[in-house]
Amino acid sequence: MDSNEFRKNAHSMVDWMADYLENVAQYPVLSQVRPGDIKNEIPATFPDKPEAFDEIFKDFEHKIMPGITHWESPNFFAYFPASKSKASILGEMITSALGTQGMVWLTSPAATELEERMMDWMRDLLGLANDWTGSIQDTASTGTFNALITAREKASKYQINRKGFSGMPQYRIYASEQAHSSIDKNVKIAGFGSDNLVKIPVDENFAMIPEKLENAIQNDLKAGFKPLFVLGALGTTGTTAVDPLDKIGDIAQKHNLWFHVDAAYSGAALICPEFRWMSTGLQMVDSMVFNPHKWLFINFDCSLYFVKDSEALIKAYSITPEYLKTDLDNEVKNYRDWHIQLGRRFRSLKLWFVLRSFGAEQLRTIIRNHINWAKELEKEIKSSDDFEMLSPVYVNLLCFRFNDRKSDEEELNAMNEKLMKKLNASGKIFITHTKLNGKFTLRLVGGHPELKKEHLVNAWELIQEFSKEL
Ligand code: PLP
Repeated sequence: MDSNEFRKNAHSMVDWMADYLENVAQYPVLSQVRPGDIKNEIPATFPDKPEAFDEIFKDFEHKIMPGITHWESPNFFAYFPASKSKASILGEMITSALGTQGMVWLTSPAATELEERMMDWMRDLLGLANDWTGSIQDTASTGTFNALITAREKASKYQINRKGFSGMPQYRIYASEQAHSSIDKNVKIAGFGSDNLVKIPVDENFAMIPEKLENAIQNDLKAGFKPLFVLGALGTTGTTAVDPLDKIGDIAQKHNLWFHVDAAYSGAALICPEFRWMSTGLQMVDSMVFNPHKWLFINFDCSLYFVKDSEALIKAYSITPEYLKTDLDNEVKNYRDWHIQLGRRFRSLKLWFVLRSFGAEQLRTIIRNHINWAKELEKEIKSSDDFEMLSPVYVNLLCFRFNDRKSDEEELNAMNEKLMKKLNASGKIFITHTKLNGKFTLRLVGGHPELKKEHLVNAWELIQEFSKEL
């Protein structure tokens, strides 16, 4: 593809993107294909000769698009949003053209220095204290992994990195029963062993019960284990419940634990001062992860890992092969030592584009709207004879179910599952579920920057209408 062809194709592709975003609500939200449908459309062997770009793109439209679930649709209410804005898409386009690798300062000083500045902007926007620093990671899972490795190395005086676990105490990690499964995966791959992840019970609002944490630690101490790390959730995945960070912080300090906070989703609400009650106790925290790629309108991937003792993180990860040494190493940040990978995408560019093109006030207005509309819908659900809320609304996630007040629990579970499947098969909206105290729970969350109240109102009407056919 020469420069002229690139220009022509790129222009038509931007037109395609603009049309797509304008018309995205017209597609079935959940892809309606069956397993194997897309793969069967793609030849089993690769092409030997070049193909015209028009042909490739035609195939993209006809063979790939049917297998797309439309995360950009305002009728996408599933999981958590991964909603992007147009400014972010443009940032990604330039990132892709530059192809920057930001592993050391020298490989693109702008990538390092813009990232430093964006971490400061985000720290201030979220209302964090000045003693936090950090870097942009791919995902929250990686951020939590960083925290576990740093805690492990600090506690073992960096000996596990050298000698392995042999002769070391049996470390224990604590998280609530509602914590995201990334802690389970990370505990395994960081070498602690899943048996050493202690799940702490939650209260009626699905938040960790601090007294149960203290009991678990006391029991572990008596049994000869070494308590090391506790994870607190600032917004769980199931219900966006907020663990009592201040009480967990006291316990962490008393037992000298590394205290990590998972604010992957709900962290976005901290840009509004009125939601900072969720971060009470954050001054006692060692590290925190927050994903602007969920609810701050930045393309996946973009996850912020904040840490207080960055020296410990760097010491745990640092390896400098000869070819990466530079004369400036004492003067600059080399972000390769702040995460697992060597290569680094230039993620700060899209963050910069978005923060500047929205401005803090507009971002706050959008987040507030999402939360207010969810609270209004919560009132409707509470006053309905046929539905009930199953957890409080902390931010913009609604956890509820159909309940005809005459069926038993087993029947209600089956009815709610049927309702969700029918709604999703209609292609009109896409919602997902969780199980709360054994109850099949519908989860509905609207977090797209262009979401309007009417999209939620229409979704609620559709849910009620479909429920009549149960
Ligand atoms: N933590 C919470 C609370 C989440 O909801 C999720 C994903 O939804 C994660 C962590 C994992 O996020 P990531 O895909 O960035 O690793």
